[in-house]
Amino acid sequence: MPALTIEQIPVLGDNFIYLVHDSESGETAAVDPAVAGPVFDTLAARGWTLSHILNTHHHDDHTGANMELKKATGCTIIGAGVDAARIPGIDVRVSEGDSVAIGHHQGKVFDVPGHTSGHIAYWFEQDQALFSGDALFSMGCGRLFEGTAEQMWTSLLKLRALPDETMVYCAHEYTSSNADFALSVEPANPDLKRRAAEVVALREQGKPTVPSNLGEEKRVNPFLRADNDDLLQAAGLTGQDAIPAFAEIRRRKDNF
Ligand code: ZN
Ligand code: FE
Repeated sequence: MPALTIEQIPVLGDNFIYLVHDSESGETAAVDPAVAGPVFDTLAARGWTLSHILNTHHHDDHTGANMELKKATGCTIIGAGVDAARIPGIDVRVSEGDSVAIGHHQGKVFDVPGHTSGHIAYWFEQDQALFSGDALFSMGCGRLFEGTAEQMWTSLLKLRALPDETMVYCAHEYTSSNADFALSVEPANPDLKRRAAEVVALREQGKPTVPSNLGEEKRVNPFLRADNDDLLQAAGLTGQDAIPAFAEIRRRKDNF
């Protein structure tokens, strides 16, 4: 089975839309289409036809083009069942344990609430690709708009359990400011210093810092490290349980 082709489309300053294409079946999914124009342009340039939309959550910068794309292509819109009322044009309602298919490529659905109550992530195991929306960012995580620290920590633990080779296709280019914050928490973390320097270099060249490698995220992302002794010590939280430690780190980021 040929690997999925993943096209990254930067839009709205700091959002990413992904087009996920299976050459065998010809199916193409748009992950979190914020706007339609650049999706149409990329489809035309590639000669692809849109068959699916995969939404991670209801926010407008992830679903804004749902209706326009559906009207133009008749694509099938997949999103979180618990948030169906807030996802424009939803056809297929999914939750944890479900799979979505792009050709023969299976994407496993995880419930990852915290940023919103109905946030989901899609993991294409064979392709080592995780579409994490606004749950997990490179060196960061989403703000807690509709959930608790406990929910978000539980969500992030599910994603942290995935294999190190996984590439994280998150929905925003927030990495520079996330790196600044991460360094403020763990200034002596050598993996973090190396990644932060790489991010500076990439941004200077106008290149995206996403996707990132999940194995590296486990070593550098403070929001995946709320149960790590090195982080807790660096943050002055030695002996804290993971959930209150995570809540405190999230609070510090909100005020950073
Ligand atoms: Zn969002
Ligand atoms: Fe967003």
